[in-house]
Amino acid sequence: AAGGPDPLLDGLNPAQERAVLSRGPALLIVAGAGSGKTRVLTHRIAHLIREREAWPSQILAITFTNKAAAEMRERIDGLLGEGAQGMWISTFHSACVRILRREAERFGYVSGFTIYDSADSRALLKRIIKELDADTYGFTPANSGSKISKLKNELSDASDYAATMNENDPRDRLFVEIFRMYEQELRRANAFDFDDLIGQTVHLFRAHPDVAAVYQRRFRHILVDEYQDTNHAQYSLIRELTRPIEPEQVEGLVPPARARELDASGRVPAASLTVVGDSDQSIYAFRGADIRNIVEFERDFPGAEVVKLEQNYRSTQNILSAANAVIGNNFDRQEKNLWTAEGDGPKITGFTGYSQHDEARFVAEEIEDLHRGGLAYSDIAVFYRTNSQTRALEELLIRSAIPYRVLGGTKFYERAEVKDAMSYLTSIANPYDPISWSRLLGAPKRGIGPMAEAHLANFQEAQGLSFHEAMLRVDEIPQIGPKLRGTVRALGELLTRAAKMAAGGGPTDVAPEPIPDSEQAEGDQEKRPAPVADLLKLVLDESEMIEKLRARRDPQDDARAENLEELLAVAREFDVKQPGAGLVAFLTEVSLVAAADDLDDQSGTVSLMTMHTAKGLEFKAVFITGVEEGLLPHQMSVDEVGGVNEERRLMYVGITRARERLFITLASTRATFGDVAVAMPSRFLQEIPEGLIDWRQSPGEVTGRGGTESRALNAVRGSGGSYSGRARGGASRGTDSSVSFAPGGGGGGRGSAAVSEPASGNMQSALDKWR
Ligand code: ATP
Ligand code: MG
Repeated sequence: AAGGPDPLLDGLNPAQERAVLSRGPALLIVAGAGSGKTRVLTHRIAHLIREREAWPSQILAITFTNKAAAEMRERIDGLLGEGAQGMWISTFHSACVRILRREAERFGYVSGFTIYDSADSRALLKRIIKELDADTYGFTPANSGSKISKLKNELSDASDYAATMNENDPRDRLFVEIFRMYEQELRRANAFDFDDLIGQTVHLFRAHPDVAAVYQRRFRHILVDEYQDTNHAQYSLIRELTRPIEPEQVEGLVPPARARELDASGRVPAASLTVVGDSDQSIYAFRGADIRNIVEFERDFPGAEVVKLEQNYRSTQNILSAANAVIGNNFDRQEKNLWTAEGDGPKITGFTGYSQHDEARFVAEEIEDLHRGGLAYSDIAVFYRTNSQTRALEELLIRSAIPYRVLGGTKFYERAEVKDAMSYLTSIANPYDPISWSRLLGAPKRGIGPMAEAHLANFQEAQGLSFHEAMLRVDEIPQIGPKLRGTVRALGELLTRAAKMAAGGGPTDVAPEPIPDSEQAEGDQEKRPAPVADLLKLVLDESEMIEKLRARRDPQDDARAENLEELLAVAREFDVKQPGAGLVAFLTEVSLVAAADDLDDQSGTVSLMTMHTAKGLEFKAVFITGVEEGLLPHQMSVDEVGGVNEERRLMYVGITRARERLFITLASTRATFGDVAVAMPSRFLQEIPEGLIDWRQSPGEVTGRGGTESRALNAVRGSGGSYSGRARGGASRGTDSSVSFAPGGGGGGRGSAAVSEPASGNMQSALDKWR
């Protein structure tokens, strides 16, 4: 746009501008943290739309979390000054659910299918393992579940695995059986697990080129943020979506292709693909993320343009220097040259507490200080490596009356009472799902025991009925006594009635998206599905779930009842926001709420989260806590190939979230499982140049708790000496305070300051490796 400032290009640096304007078939933007990758994606999308190079409906943008998707949509709307409707901005999972909901019938599923979260998957695996007696071979729902998940991320199914396994290994054979049964049961339940959403979409596209063609044609521009964390299944999905449509398939397109859609050889050309990423921020290898996807991009997509961004706009130089220094210790990477025009800014603040409570106290005090200094609570975040670290932090924050929220903690939808209520809704949408049905039988308890449940399930299977139908015909099951029959039938009637309401006689599916260029014919959908809140209200009233909780007069049960009221409020809100969308759409939304997503994004609270959750976010002030050997790097990673490098990237992600202030804290002793162990400063601390950190209380100052610790600390000092100048040698201030572990120390731990030797032994060996 000539003349006058262009809001889409103004203020971008030349490399960023090039990335916005590039129009080749493929574009790779590789750049360090905070260099504007996400911002460039956003501007690029807005530019494509404004210049009329693409309809919003021709754009598919993939973000890592739903929250990031919502933010991107908001920004684009802001840049364009209007809502860009029909654009798909979502996570891989949400995009795939949308596709599967429309195409489910193509492979024997029904559109109202259920999405199993990991708890549901585990519940199913538990039954299978029990049935196969596989626990005697050491199989648990957790270990078999994560193995299955890994395989699915590689697009392997049970038969693929069977083809490569060791025939002579009985464990392997048994695993194949578990996997097979798991697949069968999912199918029978009309359910997908989380990994299936992507894998099955890929299979769908491969098995049905005509279905794939619909999406290959529709999406002309595909943009993927955080590409470094895509796994093989996600990568394959992108490959499928970016294939050209060959002339012989073009013939079958509905509606028929127009001349201007075709290239010279009569094909619909492949969609243009833009990916952005930073291999230094790849932190999901444990979930199958494959850094090679980004490294080999140019080979996979020949003709790709590569843009590098080097200016960081987020952080001060001190923060950036620390990040650069830490990540510089990973040798398997491409050197990057990140710089900022921000100026040095204040130094990083370091603090070592005697215990995690002392550490938490420091964090709380500093937060209060920052707040008094004019920083909003919402500008502050506290990061940790594992969720178990939150307890001490939360205690101190509560005591200091600092408002906070935990992102990705025990999530609302994982609470038992909420799952109970949701199981009704799930079963109403999918009466073939055994997991939700089984759960609702006992929520609340109504005397339907495991025997009766088994009889019902057998009858259901034998007669080929839905669970609801089976309950209505309970009179045909002689093993179930007459008294119980009444209960079962009543419940069956409730579910059947609700299912009718939910279906509204009309389609329950989300309204189909318009095909580009074709006018959307708003069908006369007279029979709208019932509002979700009505269904939920019906279920809660009839089951008396809330009253029963209230009647128990236990404050915990009161809180549970409130959660159910809250769920009702969520449903009402959904009905208002998406009128007529119906139950299935609601269930989809709920099942896709990811870790970084909360029900509402309250401003005015400090955010607590793991470093994994922090990816892509930024805050003015950041606390990284528990920077100790065994925690960060995590003990589990130390023995794994490349494990420590991945942990180092995690540290890099953590540091680079900070805009102005960075605090790094640790404790010299830490209580875990009731035992108190000496903790050692993380090797990553050692990698930050001494001059960048201003120690309030350095790791050297809290020594003197006996041999192991001194040895450990000496080892750290000896190999670099960041702390030696500050070490006050032998000051044994830690001994007394470390005994006073906080109130509610979870039982066993209180007052027992037993130092466990083995832990520091591990740390020693970890250190040895590092040196
Ligand atoms: P990450 O690797 O952490 O995902 P990123 O590369 O995606 O980071 P962004 O989040 O897009 O970086 O940008 C970081 C910050 O810098 C944001 O606050 C963004 O608004 C700002 N920013 C980016 N480019 C510019 C620019 N040209 N001028 C001013 N601010 C910018
Ligand atoms: Mg980003």
